[in-house]
Amino acid sequence: MFLTLHAAAGALVGEHASQPWLALLFGFLSHFPMDMFPHGDRKMGEKAKDHGGHHLRRFIILITVDLLAGIAILGTGFALGKFEHPWYAVLGMLGGLLPDAIVAIPEYAMFVKRSEKVLLRWFYRFHDFNHNNLITFFDIPMRLGLALQAILLVAIWKMW
Ligand SMILES: [Zn+2]
Repeated sequence: MFLTLHAAAGALVGEHASQPWLALLFGFLSHFPMDMFPHGDRKMGEKAKDHGGHHLRRFIILITVDLLAGIAILGTGFALGKFEHPWYAVLGMLGGLLPDAIVAIPEYAMFVKRSEKVLLRWFYRFHDFNHNNLITFFDIPMRLGLALQAILLVAIWKMW
């Protein structure tokens, strides 16, 4: 799932927390149901890992666009004052992004360094299982995934 969506959902749940640490926790927890949502980027990530080359470049471009879109959309949301408790929303947003940041640690060790010792492999496995096997054992085409995520993003935006 796109980081933009994780950030948006994290901000939404974070804002409803009563304590800062809860905002972070709610954001963190929101990541996993969001990843279960069918979003069509599974093959892309796998191709990037297995084949590298232009698959990897496409993947990097996608992540860059995702990051820029996320900054623009969340930034607009904050600038428009859509959050009653902006700092809680920020914490929720960070919590929502955290699992993918943590997963980058074992991913780097496994796919870039190809080392035997992999820190947090269990978290990688858990995240991967949740992302790929739990509900969305099927994958959908990328375009449909993009459309569904756009709809979901608009829904979250309205709930902010
Ligand atoms: Zn994830």
